[in-house]
Amino acid sequence: MCPNCGSFIIDIDPGTDVTCTKDGITEGRHCCECGEVIKAQEIVHSTGHEYETVAAVEPTYRQDGATEGKHCGDWIVEPEIIPKKTDRFHYRRRRRRQQDHDIPAQARGS
Ligand SMILES: [Zn+2]
Ligand SMILES: [Zn+2]
Repeated sequence: MCPNCGSFIIDIDPGTDVTCTKDGITEGRHCCECGEVIKAQEIVHSTGHEYETVAAVEPTYRQDGATEGKHCGDWIVEPEIIPKKTDRFHYRRRRRRQQDHDIPAQARGS
């Protein structure tokens, strides 16, 4: 309700989002009948770029990893996907350990 004329017809003044490089304004309200500003719009000053660092993720056998990234709303440095580890490496290690085990057994046999 308008405190000036008592009208219930209140209009919303839409705000705009503040971005890294542009100021924004908050949402306001004014009376349609007399134009009384019920809620004034306020300027939200842009703070400039504020980077947030996103830590790198180590790849595992189950999940892809990613390199470190930086963003502030939008990506500044987009992380790159590191493909998940494959079973091949795992398999090769297991085979080598079996061979290592075989050698001393043969040496002992002679
Ligand atoms: Zn009014
Ligand atoms: Zn930015």
